[in-house]
Amino acid sequence: MKFSPAIAESIELRFSRLARAKNGRGEDIISFGLGEPDFPTPPAVVEAAAEAMRAGLTRYSNPFGLPELRARIARKLADENGIAAKPDEILVAPGAKMALSLALAALVEPGDEVVVVTPCYASYVPQVAIAEPDAVVRLVPVRRQDFSLDVDALAAAMGPRTRAVVVNSPQNPTGHMLAADEVDALASLLDNSNAWLLSDEIYEKLAFAGRPHLSPAARPQLAGRTVTINGFSKAFAMTGWRIGYLHVPDPAVMDKVSRLQQHLNTNTAPFIQKAALAALDLPADHLVSYNARLVANAAALTDEVAGLPALSLVRPDGGLFAFLDVSATGLGSDDFAAALLDEEGVAATPGVVFGAGFDGFVRISMAIEQARFAAGVHRLAEFVRRRR
Ligand code: PLP
Repeated sequence: MKFSPAIAESIELRFSRLARAKNGRGEDIISFGLGEPDFPTPPAVVEAAAEAMRAGLTRYSNPFGLPELRARIARKLADENGIAAKPDEILVAPGAKMALSLALAALVEPGDEVVVVTPCYASYVPQVAIAEPDAVVRLVPVRRQDFSLDVDALAAAMGPRTRAVVVNSPQNPTGHMLAADEVDALASLLDNSNAWLLSDEIYEKLAFAGRPHLSPAARPQLAGRTVTINGFSKAFAMTGWRIGYLHVPDPAVMDKVSRLQQHLNTNTAPFIQKAALAALDLPADHLVSYNARLVANAAALTDEVAGLPALSLVRPDGGLFAFLDVSATGLGSDDFAAALLDEEGVAATPGVVFGAGFDGFVRISMAIEQARFAAGVHRLAEFVRRRR
């Protein structure tokens, strides 16, 4: 394959390696770098996997996913997301990341353009390069003042070769959630185009601003041209299990996706699919307390930032992260994160990881126990004060 330089080593990994090394030397490191919930996978989910393994669900299985899980996901999408999904429009994959990768590989052809809203999850651009090395990525930054979609910039970036537009809500790294008017704007932009909307909704259940999560595919104008991608990693603390899914309402695209799945993954582990089935039937209790913690951490960060003129923050609505503007400190995000780790033992992710124009930001994960989060925020504030 043509190995594009876009398929880069993750800077996130470099920082977590540094943090681990410091931890190993006995230093007290507070990590704001985590991209996963810190509660354990719910016991009922673990038990369902164990039971399925004992029952012998340990062999090759259906490449689309177990019929009962596809049916359950279709019902979830209909009941919770307002998407008129049918079981045969669902494919279960080893992670939302793989689902997205399969969708891109099925859709994008040489010379096609893929519009990606930035700052974005660090794997989107490499995934386009893996799917189709001769595709063109058009990065469209969000509006700085509130991290909402820049509709004019999106319109300018779209053209006859646009094959896909990738959005993510709640968003990694900004914490922005798409509002109704933004979904309307996407509907008008995609109307009469050849483009598919790829909607990554992996953080859907981590929505803590009192606003509902909106799935673009629930809109009639977008229903037929949206691939909805979701999974179990963030809602059920199942990041290591590797299971996610996509919904695509087009048999021709589904046919390609399933052929890719057959040759790349064969199937998603069936005992893990049984665990996912159990997860979908869980009461959402663990999410209520977890979202309450995210609210508290977001509030602690907002309060601390309010007293520091060199920092500014758009309060996140959902997801696991806050995207902190540190540009007034005069440090680039890589230098800021390196010095913060070195001087205060706090690991944060440099904004450049999420897009070239975001070197003035660092990403703060709020997936940490409250007192420890507050201590980390306090250290960060001390670090910034020293720089005045
Ligand atoms: N999409 C976004 C926006 C993410 O931040 C992540 C993980 O951090 C993923 C997808 C990956 O999800 P999964 O673990 O289901 O592959």
